[in-house]
Amino acid sequence: MYETLKGVQQEYVFSGALKTFQARKQQLLKLKDMLQNHESELLAAVNKDLNKQEAEAFMMELGTVHSEINHTLESLEEWMEPVKVKSPVTHTGSTSYVVNEAYGSVLIIAPWNYPIQLTFSPLVGALAAGNSAVIKPSELTPHTSSAIAGAVRSTFAQEIVAVVEGDAKTSEALLEQGFDYIFFTGSVAVGKIVMKHAAEHLTPHTLELGGKSPAIVAENAKLDLAAKRIAWGKFTNAGQTCIAPDYVMVHEDVYESFLKKLEKHTYNLFSKRTKEGTYTQIVNEKHFDRLAAYLDNGDTVLGGQHSKEHRLIAPTILKNVDWDAPIMKDEIFGPILPVFTYKSSTEVIVRVRSLPNPLALYVFSEEEQTQALYSEQLSFGGGCINDTIMHVANPHLPFGGKGPSGIGAYHGYESFRTFSHQKGMLKQTTSFDMPLRYKSGKMANKIIRSVFK
Ligand code: NAD
Repeated sequence: MYETLKGVQQEYVFSGALKTFQARKQQLLKLKDMLQNHESELLAAVNKDLNKQEAEAFMMELGTVHSEINHTLESLEEWMEPVKVKSPVTHTGSTSYVVNEAYGSVLIIAPWNYPIQLTFSPLVGALAAGNSAVIKPSELTPHTSSAIAGAVRSTFAQEIVAVVEGDAKTSEALLEQGFDYIFFTGSVAVGKIVMKHAAEHLTPHTLELGGKSPAIVAENAKLDLAAKRIAWGKFTNAGQTCIAPDYVMVHEDVYESFLKKLEKHTYNLFSKRTKEGTYTQIVNEKHFDRLAAYLDNGDTVLGGQHSKEHRLIAPTILKNVDWDAPIMKDEIFGPILPVFTYKSSTEVIVRVRSLPNPLALYVFSEEEQTQALYSEQLSFGGGCINDTIMHVANPHLPFGGKGPSGIGAYHGYESFRTFSHQKGMLKQTTSFDMPLRYKSGKMANKIIRSVFK
């Protein structure tokens, strides 16, 4: 069944129907219209699944996809142009250029935490590059998955965009088909499974994974602003954001002062939502239990209240957490924030390097030297200086991890590149034929050596 779907999509792409700028523009505008026409169903669904409120859901789920489409439409015609490159003297008579070619039928597997954004943002890149796509939304947000399926089916012919709903089994059945490209967003554990399937078929792929992203607060940071931006970046979406600060390291001289400010801002930003019941829910009981078990991994500075019935955990700040505690073993992916002290920058560097390469890193400091120290000496997917999570929303920046936090990148031009095969082409003249390559003997040897020295 899925093989037929893939075949129908490949046939459509290889027919050349999505080759022109006009054809791709039409698909992107269709997607934009679809998001507008089905906005209320999509927002209602994500509210049912995660209790996401309209303003936040619009900004983080639909708004980001709209801006990705707008940015792509502005530049796509230029991106699609073949890029002329130089030809060396050994290739006299030729011109060389790079052509961006669609892969064919692309499989997009999405997670549940931003179920609309993380399904449609990659789709923008796939369509812009002239591919068709099969999308597999997460089964953990079933209302959103069904709303996505309904919206797509009433908008796109299945040879261009199709939705297959289901769980891991469905996902694996799709992976067995050997699509022309796989774009996966999700956990490290499943990323490895996806990569094994990709290896079976030698399928090019992108993995957008997670990890423990640190925020570092230096002694010379603007503490109040740092606390506010960390609180917002961490606790938005109940901490279920792949690039949310996972833990904070604060210089010992400003630790107490920072902690007070973090407590104040977290309270100001989120306590009303928690009391009113409008704070984002934990996705399911399994994740709720996993997170609830972390609550006693340190001393509570703020929060700690939780309700299994409503799958709610109040934004929680922990201090005196042991580096070996369970909460520091895996990505937290919930509204609990351990805050550590450090004495020296070496301590920070050693600690961050001892953990798997993070998806994001945030440095708070007023000194360029300190900013450069952490952002240049430490390796991570991407990040911010004096802010959190905002880099993800700039379509001019590539977004992705490194190794355990991901392979490949997307957004804006990087999405177009990701979903295109770069074909290197050389066009040779037939007006003359340089004889050198056909020669042998001493003289030829001498000339060849002088050319390739
Ligand atoms: P997940 O890996 O459990 O699931 C992601 C998708 O994979 C779902 O569609 C699911 O059905 C499918 N899946 C599950 N098991 C599978 C299997 N055995 N074979 C094939 N497919 C399978 O991830 P999740 O819980 O939905 O999302 C949370 C994780 O995603 C976190 O680790 C987070 O950091 C990461 N994430 C990363 C980004 C990013 O952009 N880098 C964004 C959001 C989330």
